[in-house]
Amino acid sequence: MNKLSKNTKKINILLDGKEVEAQEGENIVELAKRHGIDIPVLCYYEGMGECLGTCRVCTIRWKRHHVSACTLKAEEGMDLTIETEDLKDLRKALIELLFVEGNHFCPSCEKSGDCDLQHLGLKLEMTVPRFHYRFNNRSINFDADKILFEHNRCILCKRCTHKFEDDNGERVFAFKGKGSNLSVEMNIERANGLSEELVDQVVELCPVGAILKKGKGFDRPIGKRKYDE
Ligand code: SF4
Repeated sequence: MNKLSKNTKKINILLDGKEVEAQEGENIVELAKRHGIDIPVLCYYEGMGECLGTCRVCTIRWKRHHVSACTLKAEEGMDLTIETEDLKDLRKALIELLFVEGNHFCPSCEKSGDCDLQHLGLKLEMTVPRFHYRFNNRSINFDADKILFEHNRCILCKRCTHKFEDDNGERVFAFKGKGSNLSVEMNIERANGLSEELVDQVVELCPVGAILKKGKGFDRPIGKRKYDE
């Protein structure tokens, strides 16, 4: 969480031409939210601290450049453009790219209704992607005792590789390969050593249905999931 501290310098910045008060160094996604502007995010989540800005869905404009809001910190005199038609379309295009790059069959996915990618598809009014589906041939890793890893759904956001550790402080997930062969690999021994609580945590951490708990299907019925309205 972007806690507001009394000791941090107060500054003024412009969000879509409107002057707002900010704290120097404040995360722009959190700052905008505080002022009623909801910037779409996918690799970023509230309270994550430093974000790597991998998905770029939170792209905004600053000094004529496209920048990710989740990695940007408030500075005196900033003038940020957030809600324009071209920026909305850019974000929508990024979501469409993620859909065509993976194999996302929402109606049969255990994360349906709780999935951040699905939610953004709806929020940004995605219908048919403007890009061709790639139909990549990806596998499902069943090797761990408690976790199932669905490569078809992984959007390579890096939440699990950078923000999740086992009880010994060791990473359980890591990136392997390059370019279109990039994937997340799971250390089976470490995954098998995870407590039920940590398994639940990493399932929750994954924004899509790529990391799932074995032996568990739809946790909550339709109407009671995160994005059900
Ligand atoms: S498994 Fe989930 S959390 Fe990890 S990189 Fe893929 S989408 Fe992100």
